[in-house]
Amino acid sequence: MQKILIVEDEGRIVRLIRDYLKKEGYDVLDARDGEEGLAVFQRQDPALIILDLMLPRLDGLEVAKQIRKDSDVPIIMLTAKTEEADRVTGLELGADDYMTKPFSLRELAARIKAIFRRTRGDVTKSEVISQGDLTVNTKTHQVKLTGEEVDLTPTEFDLLSVMASNPGRAFTRHNLLEEIGHFPGERVKRIIDTHIKNLRKKLSRPEGAEKYIETVHGVGYRFRDDLQ
Ligand code: CA
Repeated sequence: MQKILIVEDEGRIVRLIRDYLKKEGYDVLDARDGEEGLAVFQRQDPALIILDLMLPRLDGLEVAKQIRKDSDVPIIMLTAKTEEADRVTGLELGADDYMTKPFSLRELAARIKAIFRRTRGDVTKSEVISQGDLTVNTKTHQVKLTGEEVDLTPTEFDLLSVMASNPGRAFTRHNLLEEIGHFPGERVKRIIDTHIKNLRKKLSRPEGAEKYIETVHGVGYRFRDDLQ
């Protein structure tokens, strides 16, 4: 059974999520503040974390930052409508997704399923994509740049492998959201822009940020097809 950790101080929300996810067959743990969240994370090694932004003792952004120091565990942030700036910061810190309160439990469960499907690699073909100095192994989920391993979050990895598998093809943000298993429509384009920005940063050495992923104005993004 996959373990999911909920870090949230509002008992009512914890209970709702816990009951729903238990029915879906997950093992559910919870913590009521940021410090407890980190402690439970370290002790229990959950497969996914649902992390509220506003938490006593240590806020959600700080918790995400600490977790990302040594773990790629998928993180879904819970935010209020008014916390847009924090949401972007959270994605920049490496959160994989976010849900704005109030949200549907059914949608939360669907996102969790999509993340697990991706991180298990069920939807990717087993192959090695080589472009320029970059190697993407969709089986082992390893990315290497001039022989050095690059650490990507699951979402960054999915975006990169989709684009690198189709060099030269322009993807709209909507395409990319679909490819990584999100629900387009109510989802903002910003989530893609933020993930691409993170990806470019990680792939920027040594030649510069736009070497691999180009911006296609008015459309979206494209993995370059003219690398030697
Ligand atoms: Ca809260």
